[in-house]
Amino acid sequence: MSDDHGTIESLSSLAHDAQESYPPAADFRAAANQNSSDIYLRAAADPEGYWAEQAQQRLSWKKPFTEVLDWTNPPFAKWFANGELNVAENCLDRHVANGLGDRVAYYFEGEPGDSRSITYAELTHEVKRAANMLASLGVTAGDRVAIYMPLIPETVIAMLAVVRLGAAHSVVFGGFSAESLRARIDDVEAELVITADGGYRKGRVSPLKPVVDQALVFDNADGKPSTVKNVLVVKRGGNDIDMVAGRDLWWHEEITAYDGEHTAQGFPAENPLFILYTSGTTGKPKGILHTTGGYLTQVATTHSDIFDLKPESDVYWCTADVGWVTGHSYGVYGPLANGATQVMYEGTPDTPNWGRWWEIIQKYKVSIFYTAPTAIRSCMKVGRQVPEQYDLSSLRLLGSVGEPINPEAWRWYHDVIGAGKTPIVDTWWQTETGAIMISPLPGLTTLKPGSAQIAQPGISVAVVDDEGNPVSNGNGGLLVVERPWPSMVRNVWGDPQRFIDTYWDKFGDKYFAGDGARLDEDGDIWFLGRVDDVMNVSGHRLSTTEIESSLVGHHAVAEAAVVGADDETTGQRVVAFVCIKTQQEILAPEDAEVVLKKHVADLIGAIARPANVYVVNELPKTRSGKIMRRLLKDVAEGKTVGDVTTLADTVAITAIAKQVSGN
Ligand code: ATP
Ligand code: MG
Repeated sequence: MSDDHGTIESLSSLAHDAQESYPPAADFRAAANQNSSDIYLRAAADPEGYWAEQAQQRLSWKKPFTEVLDWTNPPFAKWFANGELNVAENCLDRHVANGLGDRVAYYFEGEPGDSRSITYAELTHEVKRAANMLASLGVTAGDRVAIYMPLIPETVIAMLAVVRLGAAHSVVFGGFSAESLRARIDDVEAELVITADGGYRKGRVSPLKPVVDQALVFDNADGKPSTVKNVLVVKRGGNDIDMVAGRDLWWHEEITAYDGEHTAQGFPAENPLFILYTSGTTGKPKGILHTTGGYLTQVATTHSDIFDLKPESDVYWCTADVGWVTGHSYGVYGPLANGATQVMYEGTPDTPNWGRWWEIIQKYKVSIFYTAPTAIRSCMKVGRQVPEQYDLSSLRLLGSVGEPINPEAWRWYHDVIGAGKTPIVDTWWQTETGAIMISPLPGLTTLKPGSAQIAQPGISVAVVDDEGNPVSNGNGGLLVVERPWPSMVRNVWGDPQRFIDTYWDKFGDKYFAGDGARLDEDGDIWFLGRVDDVMNVSGHRLSTTEIESSLVGHHAVAEAAVVGADDETTGQRVVAFVCIKTQQEILAPEDAEVVLKKHVADLIGAIARPANVYVVNELPKTRSGKIMRRLLKDVAEGKTVGDVTTLADTVAITAIAKQVSGN
């Protein structure tokens, strides 16, 4: 890790303070789950007491805990360590026991148009059967099971069956290659892989089982064969696949032998729940370990408070794939712990056309919708005339996660999707944090487009300079978490040294998040981009986010990525890559360079003026939809591009490399 993280200057007038703000509507506030700001004070006065209360009130414990936080061996935290619970029972059985068995847990919408609704009683029954099946395949507490699936109900059933037995899952996104899958299987030493023949993606069946076959045949770099003994295959795509005798089993054939009798056993709160790899935006993905009691406490609390969930009436939809942490925390564990009714959609937003998401919202009367800025910008690029064809009036709350949301994208989301009235919660968190850490509370916070604003009750964060001293309002620096939190990463799987080096080396017992941030005059937090991406131009440390937001603020620009390319005279120069809105004929690519350079200089200042502006069709993104700036930097510097294993595809970066080198 380099030592020159330093303080990030914030030059932008965009982020300059609340000229534009959205207080909660009186009726929203009156009915909100959290509508008294006392909660912040109470939690701050006694954070451990606050979390203990949440853990007791929101979860059911087989054995009550008497210890809350054990921080005697930092950075290895333990929460509720002498308590015992069963995560699956908390997500399922107890709702059924409380008379909610007939409530829909998931409305499933397949990409080709098939649909199913699954009640809590049905889901519980299926998970019990699956747990019996997995137990007879030898899965026991402490094991790891790899899951490589499309987004279908069996994926959630498989996850919950694994954790019901006290084992841990490692879900690998279905878009990853055989090599990436194998690396993750090896890392967690999985003996069982649960997969499907294939899943629907962009109008066709995308094979999964053949990728598993490929992943398991070779000896790895250490000369070792895979640890996998069985592969369990769900039938979904109907594509032809090979079944290896003695190893591979069809889920639908196996399951017939098992009934729905299964008593959930309690496991210690620090029992591993899952290992999930980060998205690889800044480097090689890390295997993030989460455990049960603290994790479930914080995802349930934040899901209820931030999304203002009314489980008896809301229809909630988080669009994230379960291969990402958002899918785990806010598509499975948080909502199920809270007894929510959710939508699950298998496919992509543009299949068969860009109206698909809006049609689903109309069909199920979705009231809470949670997605990522990349998706919002894609919808902006296509134009508002698409969502305007649908009835979106059921929506009452919108959420955003994954990257800073540019103020322009925020306004579009608010006006076009939210009819100018729904609150937007801009939620900052990471695979490592397990749950949301910084976000408005919709009944309390006066919203500012582009700012994630405020730490959650019971969470203590700060923006600090390179020496760890808190910066004052109006200044930028590095985001740290000051106290351990219940859903925090417990380790990097198999690599405690990397855990220490990455997050704790810099500031001792404060968690270093790797993100730059700025406090505005009110003390609200604005994210400025990854510390690894911060640019240094003539001695000024500039934020990628602010320059990108100024570009997206131009009416013709839908998306922008900005990098600092090494430069002999200025240290670094600002290089911008932009996508123009489909509907815009106003800005010809040949004029874009001049117009957009001036636009940035006018809005932010001459120091931020890009040296180059490239109009491109598409930006390179990770499979979770985040812009991969480190590759664009390689291209801008004329280098060969670095590690691309978590890239969605190489089409965009190859085209850009060609374009840039031709100039
Ligand atoms: P890697 O750590 O391997 O580089 P990654 O950081 O992209 O991958 P994730 O854990 O999925 O993997 O992403 C967390 C990061 O996403 C945060 O550190 C932050 O940079 C960004 N992020 C998420 N939500 C927000 C938000 N609301 N505002 C600003 N940034 C966000
Ligand atoms: Mg990260």
